[in-house]
Amino acid sequence: MSPDKSAIVGAVPGFKSVFEAHSFSGRGAMQSYGAGLGLCALILKGRFETLDLSALSGSRFAEGKTVSEALVI
Ligand SMILES: Cc1cc2nc3c(=O)[nH]c(=O)nc-3n(C[C@H](O)[C@H](O)[C@H](O)COP(=O)(O)OP(=O)(O)OC[C@H]3O[C@@H](n4cnc5c(N)ncnc54)[C@H](O)[C@@H]3O)c2cc1C
Repeated sequence: MSPDKSAIVGAVPGFKSVFEAHSFSGRGAMQSYGAGLGLCALILKGRFETLDLSALSGSRFAEGKTVSEALVI
């Protein structure tokens, strides 16, 4: 579970080549394909392409941003 009950996906702040995809908060099976697809592009090309998952960055909490999701199990 993350503080806003949404996944944390993306580059780990403060590290050059460390990436994360976790804290799916009860929706990780449903979101696994999208998370993998988005993270592959970020790792290989340095940016999101097909899916922009930047809203799910772990840095959002420090920036005071949260992601609301009504479908929470
Ligand atoms: C009761 C329940 C119901 C759920 N229902 C749904 C649902 O209906 N729909 C849905 O989409 N999602 C559901 N989820 C959520 C979904 O199961 C998870 O979001 C998903 O499994 C997360 O996948 P993951 O690969 O990120 O992590 P995990 O499946 O937790 O895999 C992490 C793996 O890393 C291993 N590991 C941990 N630490 C280490 C270490 N230090 N070294 C080596 N290995 C380590 C663990 O043993 C584990 O095998 C549910 C979860 C629960 C608990």
